[in-house]
Amino acid sequence: MENLPADDVLHRFLLEHAGVRGVLVKLGPTWREVAARADYPPAVRALLGETLAASALLTGNIKLDGALSIELKSSGALRLLFAECTDQGRLRGLARWNEPLPESLALHELPDAGMAITIGNVERGQRYQGLVELQHAGVAEALENYFVQSEQLPARILLAADGEHAVGLMLQKLPDEGGHHAAQDEDAWNRIVHLTATLGVQELLTAAPEQLLYRLYHEESVRLFEPRALAFGCSCSRERVSGMLRSLGRDEVEAALAARDDQIEVICEFCAQRYHFDRIDAELLLNHNVVTAAPDTTQ
Ligand SMILES: [Zn+2]
Repeated sequence: MENLPADDVLHRFLLEHAGVRGVLVKLGPTWREVAARADYPPAVRALLGETLAASALLTGNIKLDGALSIELKSSGALRLLFAECTDQGRLRGLARWNEPLPESLALHELPDAGMAITIGNVERGQRYQGLVELQHAGVAEALENYFVQSEQLPARILLAADGEHAVGLMLQKLPDEGGHHAAQDEDAWNRIVHLTATLGVQELLTAAPEQLLYRLYHEESVRLFEPRALAFGCSCSRERVSGMLRSLGRDEVEAALAARDDQIEVICEFCAQRYHFDRIDAELLLNHNVVTAAPDTTQ
């Protein structure tokens, strides 16, 4: 276990005696790559880091085919938060905002705010979307509430991000199985919640994952599963950018060509990949009404 990476990793674990399962995500280089894409104000950056960690966290206990994304939109200063984690452990994310930012970016105070979790496979059109109620200030509380409501089981979620790391810890009480007393299970859950509450933000951000789990739960017989590697990765492709240009329509594409010497340059906001289209490319894509699924070689 000594050569395990401490960063960019997802750990699943089971607290066997307590009947609790958990996921711990620690992002380092992946988070710094996402954070470096824009000159994010600290408050926006913190929310983006938490959302990115959460997108990986939520893949921990589901059978994922495709990607899981968390998206928050509002008509206020924080216009968009987006984070995505694929079934291959590839993460990307971005935020859009307007200056000046208000003092508080509490989610439940954002005007016309909505948050959605989307799970599925874009290519095959199989998608599930759940709406997250925004009754709380933070991303963690909003997601915790979502889990409690959708799965009818207690859940605890902690998220934190600074300039170096983005970290998430999720605990879920397992459904009662025969042979357990409900009251005993309740005691065990409360004990785990209390142990978890001793965790400070700094420790969450800096401690190595195994050390963190040992420090918190060493009396609870922690069973660690094989960790999963996470990495920055973008699913953009020339095919998808072509589709986007096609959806803008001829007038917009013509205007873009005219504005820049018959060249269109599209830069992916997630990964900074540049895509170039000249007039011939543009004609081809505009006359190409049937979207063919070209193999995507970017992943
Ligand atoms: Zn990209």
